[in-house]
Amino acid sequence: MKSSQPTITPFSIAAALAMLGAFALGCAQANGEPPKPKEADTQAAPDADAASKPADSSGKFSPVKARARDFYAPNSEDLGPNEMRLIACGTGMPTARPKQAASCWLLELGNGDKFIFDIGTGSAERIAALQIPYNYLDKVFLSHLHTDHFGDLDALFVGGALAGRQKPLRVWGPSAETPERGTKYALDHLRKALTWDLDGRQGLTDPRGYHLDVNEFDYMGMNAVIYQENGVTIRSFPAIHSLDGPVSFVVEWNGFKFVFGGDTYPNKWYAKYAKGADLAIHECFIAVPDMIDKFKFTPQSALAVGTQIHTAPEAFGKVMSIIKPRMAVAYHFFKDFDTTASINERIRTTYDGPLSLSIDYMVWNITKDEIRVRMAIVDEDVWPPPATEKPQAPDQSKRIPYSPEISGGKLDMKKVLQPVYDEINKQYGTHEKQE
Ligand SMILES: [Zn+2]
Ligand SMILES: [Zn+2]
Repeated sequence: MKSSQPTITPFSIAAALAMLGAFALGCAQANGEPPKPKEADTQAAPDADAASKPADSSGKFSPVKARARDFYAPNSEDLGPNEMRLIACGTGMPTARPKQAASCWLLELGNGDKFIFDIGTGSAERIAALQIPYNYLDKVFLSHLHTDHFGDLDALFVGGALAGRQKPLRVWGPSAETPERGTKYALDHLRKALTWDLDGRQGLTDPRGYHLDVNEFDYMGMNAVIYQENGVTIRSFPAIHSLDGPVSFVVEWNGFKFVFGGDTYPNKWYAKYAKGADLAIHECFIAVPDMIDKFKFTPQSALAVGTQIHTAPEAFGKVMSIIKPRMAVAYHFFKDFDTTASINERIRTTYDGPLSLSIDYMVWNITKDEIRVRMAIVDEDVWPPPATEKPQAPDQSKRIPYSPEISGGKLDMKKVLQPVYDEINKQYGTHEKQE
């Protein structure tokens, strides 16, 4: 094979599929037209027209000349001062799968603030793909305490601290009817469950990130303010799901209104407080017949779970018809070739406004003039980006020693490892010695 031959890799296939998906989705917007490219895109590729012409005999125009692109590449676009960017980091179900993690939404504001709403099972990997330094990812808001909405909190807590969040992870979540069902109880016990993990890290890395700052708020608050910093106000109101406790959130910033709805039976508070949102996320459960056919639920369970504990697609449409957002976003279903059409048809029996049937890595750029919907193309080889602050060297006296029995089982590797110490001490001017 010639070295110049292009190689089809899984990544390039995935990228191509994602681009096709984004294009198909763009076509499926309410007005039936693909999204218009922003001015920036035409500026980025001034010869876009020329590029579409075939190569002439002079070779002036290359058939492989770059054209305007319509996907989001993480860490490649500045956010405007009056712009918000939302990225779906989990759109699926309690059983996470390669294509869809469970509920997780990253909201970035033009003032530099970043907020994570829910961090369901599998979603920490999606957050990692966005190439955002971890010291900016320190604020998480939980809609409720089902694992598909907070199951990857441990991964962000520990992995984020290891990768550069040199401060506590701040978490907001609801109370419940009893203290044992509240967020504080859950996270105190998560912290206890991580005792071995956290004890074993003492004295090895910067310790400042391994703390949870838990803010439990009243789940009965009616559009009550739970956060107000840097020109951003976040409110909560109750949802109706499984037990008392679940909530939804409203973010107000710079004249924008963003609503994140947690799991719920359609409720009057969402109908009231989400009204007129720029972008409104609301759960939309998989259609009942698909729950029976594909998830093997009994008809009784499918009807109870799919219409009474959650919001059925028809009911999702009804809610959106009441609140009339600039963009309605549906999630909480496995989005496949054989489920999407049914969900869309069912929503369209009750709603004909702008709609995104979300999938992981879908991206919304929101300005006063436009809501642009694209897919992110991610690099599977990505490493954590450098933190903007330098890490502290650990206090090695904090190490918890092995027992003599375990310590005594070490093979003698001193000679093998000394060159590593010599190399690093020479390069960095340190004086480290083997244990
Ligand atoms: Zn739930
Ligand atoms: Zn859920």
